[in-house]
Amino acid sequence: MLPRIAIHGGAGTILKSEMSAEKEEAYQWALQQALRRGFEVLHAKGSAVDAVAAAIISLEDCPLFNAGKGSVFNAEGRHEMDASIMSGENLSAGAITGVMNIKNPILLAKTVMLKSEHVFLMGEGAELFARKNHLDFEPDDYFYDEFRYQQWQKIKGTDAIALDHSREKKFGTVGAVAIDSLGNLAAGTSTGGMTNKRYGRIGDSPMIGAGTYANNATCAISCTGHGELFIRSVVAYDISCLMEYKRLSLKDACEMVVHDKLVKIGGEGGLIAIDKEGNIELPFNSEGMYRGWMGGIDDVKTEIYS
Ligand code: ASP
Repeated sequence: MLPRIAIHGGAGTILKSEMSAEKEEAYQWALQQALRRGFEVLHAKGSAVDAVAAAIISLEDCPLFNAGKGSVFNAEGRHEMDASIMSGENLSAGAITGVMNIKNPILLAKTVMLKSEHVFLMGEGAELFARKNHLDFEPDDYFYDEFRYQQWQKIKGTDAIALDHSREKKFGTVGAVAIDSLGNLAAGTSTGGMTNKRYGRIGDSPMIGAGTYANNATCAISCTGHGELFIRSVVAYDISCLMEYKRLSLKDACEMVVHDKLVKIGGEGGLIAIDKEGNIELPFNSEGMYRGWMGGIDDVKTEIYS
């Protein structure tokens, strides 16, 4: 099997008219960097799970994206982060929600998957588990980003929540899906959630089946968009089910969920998907989605607009 990887850096109202050439270049560079990080793992015969984690760490460390460093502000002015990862080989999964000061939330999700009896840890319990496993913590300042702070200032004190990367609606979550040389699939997602979200709010990103899902029998999916609607639509698992039970192709399953089912309930966003044959789909129903894929050293593509 030829290994492949795809990533996203969030969807939303991303308009070319509002992007400077330098900013666009910075995003393209960051996406390519993350793809290369993930692909290096696959190229060295590493696992899809490790490749997904490596690509996501690269995006978490980049303040351009709403995950890890550069996460959005919640209603209390804090950075509460969520992440999840799943292996399609054995359906093992790890997820964390509402964690603060963890440098790389995806590593914590992966540690939950590999080193605990559990799938999903929250808040302080998840942080305690991170300390026990010697994961890196960073002070609040590390996560601060002026652009996100200004996004929050605009709606602070109101009940509005906003997805990142949009004027009114903003998403900016990051995610990766991959297939390794053994044909194993994996998916992962990491986010700061939505600007001005209520303290304790949980989105789709850490929820297995909603924002993240992987199954070697079907596909691997990572979502980005308005989390509440993605949870109600159980988006990631729905695509897998349409393939497993209705025998839809990855393309048709993505089309039905992203451009029909989600649209009908007002669910703005998109996802990245890879199936067991290595086919990749990157559908979204918003104006743009930071995205890219890589299938060889010279086979790298990144895109932003539709
Ligand atoms: N889905 C994420 C959430 O609702 C937001 C995003 O994709 O940017 O928390």
